[in-house]
Amino acid sequence: MENSEITALRDEYEKQVFDLKQLFEISKSLNSTLDYSILIESILYTIMGQMKVLKAALYAKKGIDSTQFNLHRNYKGFDIDHEHDYCIAEDAPAMRLFARETRCWTLPELRERFGDLGGLEPLEPMGPCLVVPLKAKGVVNGLILLGEQIVNDGFSQYEKDYLLNIAILAAIAINNAFLFEMTTTDMMTKLRMKHYFYTVLLEKMEESAFSQNPLSVIMCDIDHFKIFNDTYGHSCGDEVLKSVARLIQSQTRSVDVAARYGGEEFCMLLPDTDAKAAERIAERIRHNVENMAIDYDGQRMSVTLSLGVAQYDQNRDLNGKSVLDRADQALYVSKQGGRNKVSVAR
Ligand code: GH3
Ligand code: MG
Ligand code: MG
Repeated sequence: MENSEITALRDEYEKQVFDLKQLFEISKSLNSTLDYSILIESILYTIMGQMKVLKAALYAKKGIDSTQFNLHRNYKGFDIDHEHDYCIAEDAPAMRLFARETRCWTLPELRERFGDLGGLEPLEPMGPCLVVPLKAKGVVNGLILLGEQIVNDGFSQYEKDYLLNIAILAAIAINNAFLFEMTTTDMMTKLRMKHYFYTVLLEKMEESAFSQNPLSVIMCDIDHFKIFNDTYGHSCGDEVLKSVARLIQSQTRSVDVAARYGGEEFCMLLPDTDAKAAERIAERIRHNVENMAIDYDGQRMSVTLSLGVAQYDQNRDLNGKSVLDRADQALYVSKQGGRNKVSVAR
């Protein structure tokens, strides 16, 4: 073998060893979080760095009962028209093909196969250079779209194979995060469950004690909900619960956690928020719930909420229960004061 051939071979092996080490690092990084949004961010940045692209986006399902794939809001670089519907049906012919064949696709390759884009037309305006299916246990659970590469003119076969390896890791991580989200989310209200709330509360208390940034919780309880159930029936009560939960969720930032604490009780965790700011948020929720019209079976009805606010105090709240108890006591003050009120724990 010529010297130059040996050098070329050695360079190739070195690249492969380097890429394998990279894959190992990517695997560690993707397995370090179960937070869906952080995970998707991490997948997109990893792929953008590895493939040298400035545009990347991910499609995933929103919930276990969803029959379509949605463009995740963390997309990078692509021009998005907010009037356009980018959703893709789970039973689109292209999606069924992705389940059978493991490879990356360009839009021209899909057109050659189907004559059209096989149901992927909604993503056409983004003009992706490559579509990478994500599969976990043989089931497609997402798509990654990539824009053009900064340096090369089209992805090489080696890069496409490498992308498929990253896609395997990403698909498993997404599957895990999805299952975690399902098992910590209340199916009826789509809010988080109590045990998840409590776990994050303990984490945030620790962070707050360290950073000295404020942290607050709000407890809410629907007023006279029993009468409501008794008058209009249990399924009407369920609709009211869903409407209130939607409203509470709509008032949260991405760093907040809103949870269903019990039957008709909700709670919120607000990082970087002191009691004064939390009181304003609670008051806004109280006001919006009071003014919310709920239609059920041709009838229009309304409900009110009583709320209690407490700011975490590292000298008093030695555990999570303590700050929640104080918010609950403030909630009790609101109930005693005539309901449809906000009270702050002193
Ligand atoms: P208060 O203003 O003092 O909070 O009165 P209330 O009637 O809201 O309080 P109470 O705790 O007496 O009643 C809560 C009711 O919530 C009783 C229970 O049947 C109902 N409930 C709990 N979970 C659900 C649910 O998932 N769906 C429906 N429809 N009702 C529920
Ligand atoms: Mg209650
Ligand atoms: Mg109640």
